[in-house]
Amino acid sequence: MVVGSIELLPVPDAVGVFADYGEAYPEVPPEAWAPYRALYHELFAGDSWRVPGGCFLIRSAGVTILVDTGVGPPGLWDWTAEEEGMLPSSLDALGVRRDEIDVVFLTHMHIDHVGWNTDLEGVAFFPRARYVVHRDSLAFARTQDGRPHVQRCILPLEDRFETVTGDFELAEGVSAFVAPGHYPGHMGVRLASSGGEAVVIADTAVHPALLHEPDWVYVSDGEPETCAATRHALIPELVDRDALVACGHYPGSGIGRIVTRDGRAVWEEVR
Ligand SMILES: [Zn+2]
Repeated sequence: MVVGSIELLPVPDAVGVFADYGEAYPEVPPEAWAPYRALYHELFAGDSWRVPGGCFLIRSAGVTILVDTGVGPPGLWDWTAEEEGMLPSSLDALGVRRDEIDVVFLTHMHIDHVGWNTDLEGVAFFPRARYVVHRDSLAFARTQDGRPHVQRCILPLEDRFETVTGDFELAEGVSAFVAPGHYPGHMGVRLASSGGEAVVIADTAVHPALLHEPDWVYVSDGEPETCAATRHALIPELVDRDALVACGHYPGSGIGRIVTRDGRAVWEEVR
């Protein structure tokens, strides 16, 4: 996918069943999911949430950025994977070597976003990359230093992280922005070039149903009210616009647009 002179490419890493919808969204009655089951059937496995874990590669003005590093090598996360550990082969398929990644940008530090930060020995998987993350994300992850993904994917890189505290230009036309609520210091990425626009919304709306139901509470949204406020602020500026909207937990490539269908804000993949 091209945004002006910037490339935005999906880098799939994993897909699997994570939780029952009733556990992940305890306040949402089962019948309320019906329209979304029809719209996003790939995200349903019976009453369970079948969730992809994807990353994105951005290339602008000679700078190659990997946004998030996925679930990582099999074995770290206690979920029911269908496929996992795909990131290296996904990069191969794009013709990108891991030593060509200039910047690893982490939207936040949940287990499904930091998995390939390191190899199984805790050595940086992207040898040349700057690892950029919001200061509050890193500070929060440090408070969870008993958790395996923090021990293997975050603590060994302590000296390597470059922390930011607000909007930050990663490359020409590529800027990280704070999208609070899901995780401390949670950030998205805006791309703008030659009139083209795209927004990697990260986990601002972790399920596309939340684009139309911004007040639905997902149990892993750290600050639900803040997260809902971020959705209320961000989504209207993306609906029925040319802007691409990308999320690694959405179907297919995870790159699409939000359009109004029968009065409902719906995410549709752009192929
Ligand atoms: Zn996530």
